[in-house]
Amino acid sequence: MATENYSMLIDGKWREASDGATFASVNPFDGNAWAQVPAATAEDVDDAVTAARRAFEEGPWSRATPLQRATLLRKFGDLIKENADELARIQVLENGKLIREVAGQTNALANHCYFFAGVAESPLGETLASSVPNMQVFTVREPIGVVAAITPWNSPLALLLWKLCPALAAGNTIVIKPSEITPVSTLVLARLVQEAGFPDGVVNVVTGAGPTGAALAEHRGVDKIAFTGSTAVGKRIAVSAAERLARVSLELGGKSPNIVFPDADLAGAVNGVIAGIFAATGQTCMAGSRVLVHDDIYDEFTTALVEKTVQIKLGDPLDPETEMGTVACQAQYDKVLNYIEVAKADGARLVTGGGRPDDPSLSKGLFVRPTVFTDVTNDMRIAREEVFGPVAVVIRFRDEDDAVRIANDTSFGLAAGVWTRDVARAHRMVRRLRAGSVWVNNYRKTNYVAPFGGFKESGIGRENGFHAIEEYTEVKTAWIDTGNTITDPFNPRA
Ligand code: NAD
Repeated sequence: MATENYSMLIDGKWREASDGATFASVNPFDGNAWAQVPAATAEDVDDAVTAARRAFEEGPWSRATPLQRATLLRKFGDLIKENADELARIQVLENGKLIREVAGQTNALANHCYFFAGVAESPLGETLASSVPNMQVFTVREPIGVVAAITPWNSPLALLLWKLCPALAAGNTIVIKPSEITPVSTLVLARLVQEAGFPDGVVNVVTGAGPTGAALAEHRGVDKIAFTGSTAVGKRIAVSAAERLARVSLELGGKSPNIVFPDADLAGAVNGVIAGIFAATGQTCMAGSRVLVHDDIYDEFTTALVEKTVQIKLGDPLDPETEMGTVACQAQYDKVLNYIEVAKADGARLVTGGGRPDDPSLSKGLFVRPTVFTDVTNDMRIAREEVFGPVAVVIRFRDEDDAVRIANDTSFGLAAGVWTRDVARAHRMVRRLRAGSVWVNNYRKTNYVAPFGGFKESGIGRENGFHAIEEYTEVKTAWIDTGNTITDPFNPRA
């Protein structure tokens, strides 16, 4: 297959890197380096930030009316819908995620644009009930300025849209740095940004690896960094942002508990546990990677879980019949296999999976068999560290208090699942679990109206819903003297 060449979008122009360097996007299913993209230098990053700054300070965007912003966001949404098949296919070529999931997810991205088009036209300020005589006091929300969006590879377009839509709705300009594993889908999306008619410099894309992201996050012209990725990199970004008090929102890792009570619909819970950990080959921030199972049903449940796990059909992620695709890249593949060894060495019992599949037709792909460990305790590394792969660990609990204690005994707090038919228990668990999202009798649901984000080391801030607009705006308070009051120069507060 011929290699496809892509350029970056800076100030409305498609460009190569200033030194001409490129890197490959590799298909994890067949190992084919199918695309080449520019490896942006610090100079390119500076050009992109300068363009975004100019577009913010001098261009029409930050002063556009809400209707003008909403109109472009709606047009952008329409274009995403029209091109959803192609955008989905490219993401699968880049990260090996199932077309079965990515097709629907990509088609639904238009709804983010439509929702935030509505938000752009919503009343965001407030009139205050001030007791100061002759004063009209009100607030307005204004764009922060230049936003840097740094994104991961597991859901490249969804996690970008979660940032791009609210940033644009509020009137910011943006420089995007997609993951080096999945740069092409973002570059193709940027063509739609242009086609929709956003002014030059409002949306820029620089492609490259960690150092390109670091050059962007550290750039003094960036007012806000919106990052999704690992907790380790997120902490580094927070430290560099603190130097200049740049705003940050961080969506980071997790080690989420998926808790099965004896009163649950067990067949439903098995499906929910599988969806929680094996969907996207376990490469989701919200993966239900710690499966907590009550003593009374431990044996019955794990037997049913393993029976279903061994039947999972691995294969070409572009085949709609395939149930689990590859791991996204070689580094991630090595990391997953290493964690499997760590778990064994720490005394966890491997009951299925644990390495490559034997099927020779899968030999070129980065496949790991869906893996289940039992006899896991919450102090083992496999229960404490994010694997980001198809590895479920099953942990026993005695009662509700024990489940809550184990579930919350983690440095993360992104998500949690609860399987029970007891409505009172469901409500108690929602309140007691220290996590940004709690799903009861379902798992891994997200939607553009529902805030998403983490407690503890899973992040700072919330994406989606009305909350998201707060992450992309500053509040300004205005005081208007309505009484032509003579100010006492020595007591202006009187
Ligand atoms: P990563 O942290 O390695 O990379 C994320 C992005 O940061 C990439 O674009 C990368 O090039 C860039 N980057 C790397 N080093 C950088 C640096 N020093 N400064 C600035 N940018 C830098 O993460 P990943 O491997 O791409 O993604 C997997 C991680 O993302 C997992 O930990 C997962 O839990 C997390 N994630 C979180 C969410 C969420 O919403 N909470 C969603 C998806 C993924």
